[in-house]
Amino acid sequence: METQQMTTLAGVLDKKMNRQLKQYLDICARCAICKDACHQYVATQDFKYLPARRAELIRQIYKKYFTKTGEFVPALYEARDPDENLLDELYESAYACTGCRRCMYYCPFSIDTAWILSVAKAILIAAGKGNEMLGQLADAALFKSDNFEMFKDVIVDGFKDIELQVKELTGDPDAEIPVDKQGADILYVALAGAHSILPAAVIFHEAKASWTLSYFEAANYGYFFGDAVKARQIADRFMDEAKRLGVKEVVITECGHAYRVAEIFHEAWSGEKHSFKVRHILEVIDEYITDGRITVRPDAITEPVTYHDPCQVGRNGGIFEQPRNIVCALASDFRDMTPNREQQWCCGGGGGLVAISEMDEFRLKSGTIKAEQIKATGARIIASPCENCRLQMEGLNDSMELGIEVKAIMDLVLEAMPLAGSSAKVTPTD
Ligand code: SF4
Ligand code: SF4
Repeated sequence: METQQMTTLAGVLDKKMNRQLKQYLDICARCAICKDACHQYVATQDFKYLPARRAELIRQIYKKYFTKTGEFVPALYEARDPDENLLDELYESAYACTGCRRCMYYCPFSIDTAWILSVAKAILIAAGKGNEMLGQLADAALFKSDNFEMFKDVIVDGFKDIELQVKELTGDPDAEIPVDKQGADILYVALAGAHSILPAAVIFHEAKASWTLSYFEAANYGYFFGDAVKARQIADRFMDEAKRLGVKEVVITECGHAYRVAEIFHEAWSGEKHSFKVRHILEVIDEYITDGRITVRPDAITEPVTYHDPCQVGRNGGIFEQPRNIVCALASDFRDMTPNREQQWCCGGGGGLVAISEMDEFRLKSGTIKAEQIKATGARIIASPCENCRLQMEGLNDSMELGIEVKAIMDLVLEAMPLAGSSAKVTPTD
């Protein structure tokens, strides 16, 4: 690789540099406490997945380009150029990371390795070495918004099909899935497919909520890819819609990273304060149950149920109690995993890994701790409000024969609500 190109890549690090990142790069004590916090390292015992080692690759570039000692005596101070070898190591470390931040929780200095690795992804993208699949999925989302008129009729037809099921379940021929409704209180942002639209539509209907459905899906592959500009543009699609419709809040479906992007990152990326609240759908459902706006049968689920805190909803999003409240309101035998809440183990499916087929074997292996945690509860159902977590746990269920059912929390709520319409169990499919 040309010197000029390596200097350009170091420039990407320079652009991302701020006081906090510099502090993270300066202070690692090499205590290796983080090794026991990372599910990937614990499951594989492979040095390249040790959190501090992953960050060390960026630290080596930092030392070479941002410290005098590293510049003049690189061998002594472990300073390196971002050459092909380093970039290959960086790719394996950065795109394997699920961004769970469990290592940060246990690090005595709270070093955010996932953040350091987001800088690593920016360097890889600048070098033309970003993950291809994640990049293509991000571009596909932007293509949809750039050519929206081409897709609009198909999208609305799909909503109308789901609306028929809402009418049937609620027994209300006037029940609807409102779209583009000016002045609605809530803009609900779902995932692509009926499975995250139908249960929410029934719940909003029963709660008599003023809501409207976004044309755009919540998933954000720009975030997983590591391109902050694309990630912001993908989230802008529904944030602009929220502004245009004048809603009071944006409610994100059962998706971990989309919630974190909308609630935590988007204002910083856009430099604009939202004129509306952003909430996760489980915060809204918990409120509806507490306020008596919807009713769930307390004995609807008698089989033992456990709950997995998705990293982006729990440890990184601060939502711990609302999902437990909901599950306990409708299940008579709730069994929490150990450890849980902030200390919950990552399932291994985040960071976009479920979309990267060459990572399948590694991803399932990295989920062995989660599988053991689930087994130890004796639960027959595991509920979790993140699609990536559910896909991963379905994979673990198959490969490790856990004999569990993996459920979205909205589906449990739908099963537990006494509805006036068809008693036939509706299984939303995409
Ligand atoms: S726990 Fe923190 S300080 Fe210790 S090695 Fe890991 S990143 Fe460095
Ligand atoms: S964020 Fe999670 S997956 Fe990434 S290095 Fe830390 S513990 Fe491992």
